[in-house]
Amino acid sequence: MVSTSKLAVVTGGSTGIGKDISLLLAESGWNIAISNIHADENTEEVVDEIKSTGRDCFFYACDVGVKQEVEKFYRAIEENFGDAPDLLVNNAGVQTWAPLLDLKEADWDRVVRTNLKGCFLNTQIVANLMKKAKKPGSIVNIGSGCNKLAFPNLVDYSASKGGVEMFTKVAAVELGGMGIRVNCVAPGGILTNRTQEESSDYAGDWAKITPLGRVGYAKDIANAVIFLAGDQSSFITGQTIWVDGGAFTKANWPYA
Ligand code: NDP
Repeated sequence: MVSTSKLAVVTGGSTGIGKDISLLLAESGWNIAISNIHADENTEEVVDEIKSTGRDCFFYACDVGVKQEVEKFYRAIEENFGDAPDLLVNNAGVQTWAPLLDLKEADWDRVVRTNLKGCFLNTQIVANLMKKAKKPGSIVNIGSGCNKLAFPNLVDYSASKGGVEMFTKVAAVELGGMGIRVNCVAPGGILTNRTQEESSDYAGDWAKITPLGRVGYAKDIANAVIFLAGDQSSFITGQTIWVDGGAFTKANWPYA
């Protein structure tokens, strides 16, 4: 059993934005437990990279939206670390692209189950563990521009991320008395392996519509998570931090 003072759970923590969050947390002294739906040779490499920071990293393959699997994940964490998590980052997320009139029921179910129910299941278990251990904790949900704006062909994703926005607020209000803070980080256009496949010039496309004039990087999101994880944000809860270069603050305006 590994002894640790600070333990972070990062769902979807071995790829894309989640990988940078896991790495930066480890570099900042956190031990890491990751759950992803798949495990492959890349997962092993990422686990080794995190361990090379000198911190422990535990990986478990599970679906964040299936209660029995999530419960097994936390039992495995307890066996490995012998302690409750101090931080949960609900990062795992999926999207489908389809007009409302054509969207398949199975896609709606998968997206809402992963993005919203996954956030609920992990938060409920982690908050109960924090309460039992009487430790203050931080929970950070990864949202999206879809928390507040209507993106066509993303109705399932937008409904789930709008749900994450309100879930964050209710959880913050209910858990505040236990010293558990709950916040959301809402990314703009972030360059990852996945988003790179969405367009031949994803970085250029987002630079054009982003007031700060560039695409975002996974490290930008990781930096905001580190802030919300630590003592510097100890009086902040129920908030969404927009890490979007101003993209989702900019109004559509016909005259300029
Ligand atoms: P990736 O596809 O790279 O990462 C998503 C991760 O979630 C993967 O590790 C994936 O695991 C995991 N995952 C998917 N479904 C499940 C599941 N059912 N159970 C457990 N893990 C699962 O995407 P990004 O890094 O781009 O996105 C990360 C988060 O950021 C998401 O919540 C996304 O909505 C949000 N976001 C991203 C933006 C961007 O521009 N990149 C913009 C706005 C929000 P596996 O690898 O095993 O499939």
